[in-house]
Amino acid sequence: METMTRNKLSAKATIELENKYGAHNYHPIPVVIERGEGVYVWDVDGKRYFDFLASYSAINQGHCHPKIIAALIEQAQKLTLTSRAFYNDSLGVYEKYIANYFGYDKVLPMNTGAEGVETAIKLTRKWGYEKKGITGNHAKIIVCEGNFHGRTISVISASTDTESNGSFGPYTPGFIIIPYNDTRALAEALKDKTVAGFLVEPIQGEAGVIVPDAGYLSDCFDLCKAANVLFIADEVQTGIARTGKRLACDHEQVRPDVLILGKALSGGVYPVSAVLADDEVMMCIQPGQHGSTYGGNPLACKVAIAAIKVVDEEHLAENAERLGVILRKGLKDIKSDMITLVRGKGLFNAIVIKPKNGKTAWDVCLALKENGLLAKQTHNDIIRFAPPLVITEEQIIECVGIIRKTLLSFS
Ligand SMILES: *Cc1c(COP(=O)(O)O)cnc(C)c1O
Repeated sequence: METMTRNKLSAKATIELENKYGAHNYHPIPVVIERGEGVYVWDVDGKRYFDFLASYSAINQGHCHPKIIAALIEQAQKLTLTSRAFYNDSLGVYEKYIANYFGYDKVLPMNTGAEGVETAIKLTRKWGYEKKGITGNHAKIIVCEGNFHGRTISVISASTDTESNGSFGPYTPGFIIIPYNDTRALAEALKDKTVAGFLVEPIQGEAGVIVPDAGYLSDCFDLCKAANVLFIADEVQTGIARTGKRLACDHEQVRPDVLILGKALSGGVYPVSAVLADDEVMMCIQPGQHGSTYGGNPLACKVAIAAIKVVDEEHLAENAERLGVILRKGLKDIKSDMITLVRGKGLFNAIVIKPKNGKTAWDVCLALKENGLLAKQTHNDIIRFAPPLVITEEQIIECVGIIRKTLLSFS
């Protein structure tokens, strides 16, 4: 038997279990988390950390938010799943709530972000045939280099990341890939009359928090309108207050034709994703053409309503906006030659790391962990700093101190 401490597996034993019995599709920082509350998590040995990844921005409302957990428990004791073969008394209420909240006619409920993207692609193609008059199954969707929209076959077919799309072909056709933050390339690609949609992250998350130029989103939106093409925003990571506004598109007063949400839509409590659109687009989907057994289940509906309410009640967008400025200033003031760039919006931030004496961003993350702060590198040289939005100014300042101390320890 593995080593036990108080009837509990040690961190080492837990990691060994995952290595032996789990697929090796991730390479986690070696910390085994047992408990979370607000901005903190605790490992199996009782050590406390600041969570500066917040599960890729799924935990905007903080770990185990009591109001979201209460909604989950209350509904779990009553009704969890009916499938969409029957009506349930939670779905319509949720649909009205989220549609009104984001200002759309309708919502299509799914579970994961990738499913939301798949849904948006199907919806856009269908609109392309039925409303735009594209023929012969030739509808195309423009996407951007460096995108991350999930891990399904169709979604990786739109990816330029060789790690995520290597050796998984044949791929789904119908994508045109253009550079990100390049309106001229978009204008050129939009000359193709078989284009139905432009799918874009308002800030590229997995690419390393790449913030496009001011005006990029609104210019893209205008170009799409002129070409009768749907503007599809993947706000799975940027949405729900992360960047300092309810949606990242709100910074430029852009209202996407198709809006994809996930992650923090449930505050990290349950997989909930959603695609929002107006009737002109949404009514292209008829019964039997799309769905999911768990999509729109009562548990998901109650959790999502509670999670959205917390965002408003606790002014998380305003908090993200204000503390983001303080965080970036604190990071820029760190005098370490390992930091070559600090960028971000709201509490969606990253630093670019130049390796030093063979030490990379991964080593920095390991050292941050030792000092009580959890973060994860992306693309070998970028570390994202995206804590739960319930963090306070005092805590941000404490965390900048941890990051400073850690980086200076490398010199
Ligand atoms: C995480 C993410 C997804 C995929 O969400 P999953 O729930 O992991 O399938 C899609 N788009 C963006 C922008 C994301 O950050």
